[in-house]
Amino acid sequence: MVPPPVGMVRTSWSTDPWTLGSYSFLGVGATPALRVTLSRPISDGVLLLAGEHVATDSPSTVHGAAESGNAAADRILDDVDGPERVVVVGAGMAGATVARRLVDEGHDVVVVEGRDRVGGRLDTVQPAGWGFPVERGANWVHDVGASSLREDLAALGVRTVPFDYSESVLGPDGKEVQPDTADAGPEAALADALEWAEEQDADSSVSEALVQSGATADPAELDRFLRSEIVTEYGADPGELSAWEGLGEGTEGNDLLVVGGYAALVKDLLDGIPTELGWPVATVAHSADGVTVTATDGRTVTGDRAVVTLPLGVLKSGAVRFDPPLPETHRDAVDGLSMGVLDKVWLRWDERWWGDHGEQWTRTAPADDPYIEWYDLAGPTGQPVLLGLVGGTMARAWAARTDDEVMAAALASLQAFKDAGW
Ligand SMILES: Cc1cc2nc3c(=O)[nH]c(=O)nc-3n(C[C@H](O)[C@H](O)[C@H](O)COP(=O)(O)OP(=O)(O)OC[C@H]3O[C@@H](n4cnc5c(N)ncnc54)[C@H](O)[C@@H]3O)c2cc1C
Repeated sequence: MVPPPVGMVRTSWSTDPWTLGSYSFLGVGATPALRVTLSRPISDGVLLLAGEHVATDSPSTVHGAAESGNAAADRILDDVDGPERVVVVGAGMAGATVARRLVDEGHDVVVVEGRDRVGGRLDTVQPAGWGFPVERGANWVHDVGASSLREDLAALGVRTVPFDYSESVLGPDGKEVQPDTADAGPEAALADALEWAEEQDADSSVSEALVQSGATADPAELDRFLRSEIVTEYGADPGELSAWEGLGEGTEGNDLLVVGGYAALVKDLLDGIPTELGWPVATVAHSADGVTVTATDGRTVTGDRAVVTLPLGVLKSGAVRFDPPLPETHRDAVDGLSMGVLDKVWLRWDERWWGDHGEQWTRTAPADDPYIEWYDLAGPTGQPVLLGLVGGTMARAWAARTDDEVMAAALASLQAFKDAGW
């Protein structure tokens, strides 16, 4: 039996009221043009939106959120003649990036944040006994060449390690499959399905394209491949993701695992900038003359401009009212983009019970196993820890489960690897 862990950290991002999901994706019919629409200025440039969902190059990532913050700062700096007062809503990567740029150029900035901490989806915690900072949100710098995150983290003394996703796979019979004999069928089937979709007059989901195109692969292997390549990458099911556009947004290139505390980035950017925590925004009133931002308890801040970095899930929920409402183009873009879900379970033992089987473990799993991938992070963290990922509709369903249920499911999933001689 897998020994009982001595610690667990789990997330439920779909029910976190400050984000209502993990990151955005393109569902059937959506295109990257919706993100461009969201980046367009409102009320003569007095109101701008930013955040990972607004990023045009690398949406759904930390560096995409920074990119969107930089783009908003560029627009404001192009527009203004003299120092202005700018209200930034949200103290995540996008908000911190725009705030720092504007303050460095001599503007008066106030950041208002609903949570009692900064960082947003950069959520580093240090539970007692863990011995390293545990990431509840983002963990990797994707595509290191695409941003300055590696250098920024290094300058702060935050440790990162190269990560090559060396993989071990358990086949349908519960035995380890050698990587060089792994079935290439699912990858070919997906390529055929996407090619078929390209030739159609209307977009479809990836699942529909697989069925309609007649692409064939071993069903169990195809399921494992799709769960690992799509559900954890996009936080969406193949039945939700656009066959035309959805997969075009994945990250490529080399990744780094952040093991020294990702949230330090945001703390550093906001150092010295007035930041109001526990300040849940209820209304953003905007006109060509300026903005008034009101909290749920009636407190207000005013400014010449506002940059609103509310997550897509929060924008979709309507929890924050815009007065006047966002332009129809922007509302359509909010409706047209989708919010995906990726959740984590970190488990820690006093002693490592597994051998060396690479950084990433996947298996041809029964339908009731929520855990798609397990990461052996004992090496990088120096602690006997495993990280499990669950995504898409399965993650939404599991968000309501108790910690005991999550623990039981995680141990049942890991038992398959133990039984295979791990
Ligand atoms: C589990 C998980 C794993 C991920 N893994 C990676 C990864 O490995 N690599 C990667 O690059 N990306 C990853 N991401 C995505 C990445 O974390 C995000 O794209 C990025 O951090 C988003 O930054 P942001 O500034 O757009 O939004 P946020 O960080 O969400 O910032 C928005 C802020 O607005 C605040 N807010 C919300 N509502 C209100 C309100 N009413 N009033 C005031 N404030 C409000 C929120 O509290 C939050 O602080 C992951 C995300 C999750 C959830």
